[in-house]
Amino acid sequence: MSRAWNFCAGPAALPQEVLEQAQAEILDWRGKGLSVMEMSHRGADFVSIAEEAEQDLRDLLAIPSNYKVMFLQGGATSQFAMIPMNLLRGHKSADYLNTGMWSTKAIQEARKYCDVNVVASAEDVNFTTVPELASWKHSKKPAYLHVTPNETIHGVEFEFVPQVDVPVVADLSSTILSRPIDVSKYGLIYAGAQKNIGPAGIVVVIVRDDLIGEVIPGTPTMFDYKVQADNGSMYNTPPTYSWYLAGLVFKWLKKQGGVAAMGEVNQRKASRLYHYIDGSGFYANPVDPRYRSWMNIPFTVENVALEKPFVKEAEAAGLLNLAGHRSVGGMRASLYNAVPDAAVEALIAFMKDFARRHG
Ligand SMILES: *Cc1c(COP(=O)(O)O)cnc(C)c1O
Repeated sequence: MSRAWNFCAGPAALPQEVLEQAQAEILDWRGKGLSVMEMSHRGADFVSIAEEAEQDLRDLLAIPSNYKVMFLQGGATSQFAMIPMNLLRGHKSADYLNTGMWSTKAIQEARKYCDVNVVASAEDVNFTTVPELASWKHSKKPAYLHVTPNETIHGVEFEFVPQVDVPVVADLSSTILSRPIDVSKYGLIYAGAQKNIGPAGIVVVIVRDDLIGEVIPGTPTMFDYKVQADNGSMYNTPPTYSWYLAGLVFKWLKKQGGVAAMGEVNQRKASRLYHYIDGSGFYANPVDPRYRSWMNIPFTVENVALEKPFVKEAEAAGLLNLAGHRSVGGMRASLYNAVPDAAVEALIAFMKDFARRHG
């Protein structure tokens, strides 16, 4: 068996130790004689798995007790609808910052439910930066402000939390658990699991409890945060195996030293790659250096005809999923928590060799 280095944007690499533990437990979970996949979600064993996963996530992010943590379905994409359905609470409008493709999708979906005020957009510069705070135009009484602090496709990330007097809602799908955050500065955080949490099938939602319980008429029961929170995310059958694997990843993260330790590793990995790209004279990253993502690093070559050979040759060298998103082209390396320093070193060595041969 040989495992390649996987730079996929999602579903993404998982820690090898986690996969090995899942393998060891797949037929017989802790002497119970069955797989986690075969357990009743209401039985004591799975309930303990689910509760431990939530507690570990609470520990990792220091989530205050007045926040609900939910493990839901439908990906980050269904949150684009669930957020206005749950958080409008009688308001007619919501504010959105547009920093890329995922913000744009959130905006389009929210427009079905309310007036969306785009406070600022970086579309005119192809989403290579974050609009200056002083240029943001907030509306009068928005229900909330929605931001996407890491744009997975464009590789743009900002760490600050906007200071506004309405709840800040953040799509942290591709940056959650990659560095410390202050949960108390947000009204709601959501993150699809398949980037930095676990396998696909789960979206984690962390929401301040006073914001839930007032949905717009016609909201499906499954889309009501209050119903999900009151039922421990088990109003219906949850994706139990994904939840279990997310729990194993949380334990692994604790063993690595938690999000502060991961932040150091992630900063180191990203700056190595940016440093190489900037000095290469062959590759380029278009993003404003103040807002370069630690997680998703797009890069281009001057001669676009070399993009396909790059991706193909990288694959042959055991470096997988380096093609850029189909909407933007180029290349992209995603360096999530489960991608180790050695993977980045292997990537840079390959990039050097490719540049030498084609430069
Ligand atoms: C991947 C991603 C999404 C979409 O996630 P799904 O789970 O596929 O719905 C939304 N937002 C961001 C920032 C993402 O990276």
